[in-house]
Amino acid sequence: MTSADRIRCIREEIRALSPHPERVRLIAVSKKQDLGRMRKAAEAGIRDFGENRIQEAADKFSQEAFPGITRHFIGYLQSNKVNKCLQNFNWLHSLQTEKLAGLIAHSEIPLLCLIEVNISGESSKSGIRPEALRTFVKGLSACPGLQVRGLMGIAPLTEDENTVRRAFALLRELALDCRSLETEDLHFDELSMGMSGDYRIALQEGATMLRIGTAIFGPRQS
Ligand SMILES: *Cc1c(COP(=O)(O)O)cnc(C)c1O
Repeated sequence: MTSADRIRCIREEIRALSPHPERVRLIAVSKKQDLGRMRKAAEAGIRDFGENRIQEAADKFSQEAFPGITRHFIGYLQSNKVNKCLQNFNWLHSLQTEKLAGLIAHSEIPLLCLIEVNISGESSKSGIRPEALRTFVKGLSACPGLQVRGLMGIAPLTEDENTVRRAFALLRELALDCRSLETEDLHFDELSMGMSGDYRIALQEGATMLRIGTAIFGPRQS
């Protein structure tokens, strides 16, 4: 199967499994994939790329513009890399500190943000703890202009489908709960959840953004 075939299959699954297929965006996670593979994905209709290293992404995007493409930063963002992130990306999926929120809010360049929530149940993983989410969201009122659009989560790595499903359902419920805190700048419509191994479950649980790497491109190249 070519990447174009795999993209076609995933789009069929989106139509079959999602309660709102028209709202689902398929983000091709192109970290450690070369420009040739990215070009083929774009030719197959991909309009969103996800990367987790600023420098690698900046290098690739400087070589090829990919007109009409939306760029998503899905990795951990250090505060000294914020400017480079603003210059190279349209979306940040991993907002999780007030410091970062303040830096982004002060910038002239727009960056749409998702708050990363730790839905894995493992304290070692990144993201805001579910119990702390409301307090974090309320604190963002100190960052006027910051554009929040929803939540992002990574399910625990397990074969147990029910555990994965519960984690995605938790993210959906947290986003619903955050609706009562919405303002002109803070919205909670987007749910970024589901990777190559678990996107079907994420779709059933209401994902609006799938972050899929290897199931589109095959194994990463380095
Ligand atoms: C790498 C990565 C993905 C994609 O992983 P695959 O298993 O290759 O689909 C999704 N989300 C994040 C945050 C990642 O770092």
